Amino acid sequence: MINMDEKNAYKTFRIASIRPDNYRVKTFTLDGALEAKPGQFCMVWIPRLNEKPFSIMNADPLTFNIAAVGEFSNKLHELAVGDKITLRGPYGNGFALTGKEKKVLLVGGGYGVAPLYFFAKKCLAQKIEPVMVIGARNEQDVLLEKDFTEEGVRVVVTTDDGSKGIKGFATVAAQAELDAGGVDAVFACGPEKMMAALARLCKDKNIPCQVSLERYMGCGMGICGKCVCGGQRVCADGPIFPGEEALKENDFGQKSRDASGATKTL
Ligand SMILES: Cc1cc2nc3c(=O)[nH]c(=O)nc-3n(C[C@H](O)[C@H](O)[C@H](O)COP(=O)(O)OP(=O)(O)OC[C@H]3O[C@@H](n4cnc5c(N)ncnc54)[C@H](O)[C@@H]3O)c2cc1C
Repeated sequence: MINMDEKNAYKTFRIASIRPDNYRVKTFTLDGALEAKPGQFCMVWIPRLNEKPFSIMNADPLTFNIAAVGEFSNKLHELAVGDKITLRGPYGNGFALTGKEKKVLLVGGGYGVAPLYFFAKKCLAQKIEPVMVIGARNEQDVLLEKDFTEEGVRVVVTTDDGSKGIKGFATVAAQAELDAGGVDAVFACGPEKMMAALARLCKDKNIPCQVSLERYMGCGMGICGKCVCGGQRVCADGPIFPGEEALKENDFGQKSRDASGATKTL
């Protein structure tokens, strides 16, 4: 059990390896481990710039899958093997298993696949069969497919433009997997609209579902309130919520806040 002091203490690692995954995503493996659960995240700190949350892709060695989309993530992409990374955490609740699942469906969009990779390994270790749906805009954006297949996970790819796998959203493949039967629970991380559609689908089919919300975060520890979704602080109460609970929040899949805290429609 990690106490709050340990969580909040800054820890410094060196980058052991960097793997380019596509034109804007790299996997950073650090030179140490962190005691963490799949679905938890760390606040990575770049001095004089900011701190941002990143999902844990592997705890031992500590690994992150990072897309260069803005100032902070581009700075991380400038780092080289041997450079230092300072962070605090792990934060958040993590995906929860009841112990009764035999087969689970994992649905990831974008870099949402990273925490699901960590979770798939936990499922395999517990003799639970994970099936992974990876949704992406196009073939180039499909992330971590080889990592999952190398672990022995069956992967279904969907792309919006049909350049790889099934043409359409990840929810199309998820529906087909649920219709085929045998899925005991669904776990998702990715764009909120995708997760809201999935949560509604699971509710209709009476299958338990957990969704991992990604909101702009300030402190990562439940103080600043920047990441709230309805009445929930995503960093401290989540980031993982039962689908049915998330659907009760008016914001879920509808509205988010931008970096300034202003509300925007998704
Ligand atoms: C719990 C949690 C876990 C996260 N895990 C990861 C992770 O594992 N890997 C990761 O790369 N990021 C992750 N993020 C997002 C990360 O914290 C930053 O928000 C992201 O790196 C962008 O920060 P930035 O300052 O570089 O860009 P910003 O200036 O914040 O954003 C630049 C522009 O890119 C857009 N944008 C932001 N993110 C994306 C995206 N992924 N795809 C397309 N456009 C985007 C923004 O809307 C904005 O228009 C996570 C966020 C949360 C809340």
